[in-house]
Amino acid sequence: MILESFPVGPLRCNCTILGDEATREAIVIDPGDNIPEILSRLQKHGLTLRQIVITHAHIDHVGGASRLKTATGAPVFLNQKDLPLLDAMEMQAGWLGIATPEVAPPDASADDGVTLGLPTVAGEVIHTPGHTPGSICLLFPHQDLLIAGDTLFAGSIGRTDLPGGDGRQILRSLRDRLLVLPDTTRVLPGHGPQTTIGEERQSNPFLQPEFRM
Ligand SMILES: [Zn+2]
Repeated sequence: MILESFPVGPLRCNCTILGDEATREAIVIDPGDNIPEILSRLQKHGLTLRQIVITHAHIDHVGGASRLKTATGAPVFLNQKDLPLLDAMEMQAGWLGIATPEVAPPDASADDGVTLGLPTVAGEVIHTPGHTPGSICLLFPHQDLLIAGDTLFAGSIGRTDLPGGDGRQILRSLRDRLLVLPDTTRVLPGHGPQTTIGEERQSNPFLQPEFRM
């Protein structure tokens, strides 16, 4: 598997490219910005983009999706519960004081249990509401890899004070959907360094018993 993960945009959202070395197909997760760089990385590997997956509709994760779709023709997947946030892109741009990116409705909803990705790089959608109502993680069981969006970070969890955020819900999502994964699961969060489920289970302050419900 080809894996590239790199920060894009002013908030340094981690954008991830996953590719199949044999078929030269790829998916891109969270193309928040820096579309020319994403395209050049795809080109460097000779990869054809098949899907664009958005972990949630915050501007730093979804901001470049329409441009990447226009450039490649690949369909965009976003959980439908985040459509109100997508519609509020102008407000989100206002929070950051940046220009409002062009956004379009997703081609399909990334619903819980749906399998996205490629035949050899298959990702299961895990709906993990809390940071936003439609936040998802993508689990690649054969690769022992979790793309966590802004639900789980190394040593922290996603903020829940923005519109649509819910502090109890994110703790439930973490407990019921992520802490059940094997300790060996490699985690690529939406921001910052990578980690593992085992590392976070042991040392993340938000995942300790006094925080759980
Ligand atoms: Zn976010």
